[in-house]
Amino acid sequence: MLYCSPMPLSDARALSDRLLAWYDRDRRLLPWRAAPGEPADAYRVWLSEVMLQQTTVAAVIPYFNAFLARWPTVAALAAAPVEEVMQAWAGLGYYARARNLHQCAKTVTEWRGGHFPEDEESLRRLPGIGDYTAAAIAAIAFGHRAVVVDGNVERVMARLFAVTDPLPGVKPRLKALAAELTPTERAGDYAQAVMDLGATLCSPRSPACGLCPWREACRGLAQGIEASLPARAPKPERPTRRGIAFWIVARDGSVLLRRRPPQGLLGGMMEVPSTEWRPEVWDLDEAQSFAPLPAARLAEPWRPLPGLVRHTFTHFHLELTVVAARATGQPPVRGLWCPLDRLAEQALPTLMRKVVRLALSKAY
Ligand code: SF4
Repeated sequence: MLYCSPMPLSDARALSDRLLAWYDRDRRLLPWRAAPGEPADAYRVWLSEVMLQQTTVAAVIPYFNAFLARWPTVAALAAAPVEEVMQAWAGLGYYARARNLHQCAKTVTEWRGGHFPEDEESLRRLPGIGDYTAAAIAAIAFGHRAVVVDGNVERVMARLFAVTDPLPGVKPRLKALAAELTPTERAGDYAQAVMDLGATLCSPRSPACGLCPWREACRGLAQGIEASLPARAPKPERPTRRGIAFWIVARDGSVLLRRRPPQGLLGGMMEVPSTEWRPEVWDLDEAQSFAPLPAARLAEPWRPLPGLVRHTFTHFHLELTVVAARATGQPPVRGLWCPLDRLAEQALPTLMRKVVRLALSKAY
């Protein structure tokens, strides 16, 4: 269906009505969404919004379903050991989210009787809930008028109002424009509708303007510049860091893993032990002081495995060389010998799964 009547950008009510009519018909079916007319469940909304931070819907759906099947309530999640939550999160990335998720579940259960607060300010006081997530929960779970702005909404606003100033500096202006359009009624549906519009029709490369409920009002489309928006300031180049990972195999075939410190990158996750990650290339002799076992407890010298493990984090690229050796004696104090057939049960982040894959293909 095409929308033909003219629609001024100043008529916020007409814009939201038209968008909500489109949403009622064409909304995405997502497992955390309530059925039309049903109240949303705050636990599902919170869980999905935390998982969706920096992560695609397609990647989140299987994790969301698995978490909900295993921990159907916030109290059940709070009662789980944090190691189990980290293990279930493994592969989703940005692991501070998992630690905060568990901490937030405990706070809500122990201090609020299992009920999430409804207003943005109280929500922001909970672990792992920032401005965006607080607004999303307040609107979607509780129907409060809150301005929910993610990358999809920024793109839609930049195009609708033909804002050519670049991100990230223009973010406050885009949020102010989004606020002007946000209605008081059906605030949760409206928030999800704008995000759906950005995720489906108003896509980054080729917006499907012919199907858009806002096409008659869209200044970016009228000026023929919609596909070029939003403009972005050039990003600084990501630097590359390097490290050496130590693949150590015991006599019974198990491999040495250890848990990373709770704070910092991949905090609390399991790892194949490695050196620091730094810009300079490591020399193997120098790297050995970081090895979890001294040479005297190895059956042979370190053997570099062919190939590199490459991984990209938000702020840098990482290249890991993997070196392998067999161990002779007892495990180190800080470590765990894991049988190969139980590796999948460990909270190994994607980077470390890459290390395991390379080692298993090239080592013993
Ligand atoms: S008309 Fe096109 S560019 Fe404008 S909001 Fe709709 S999909 Fe986006």
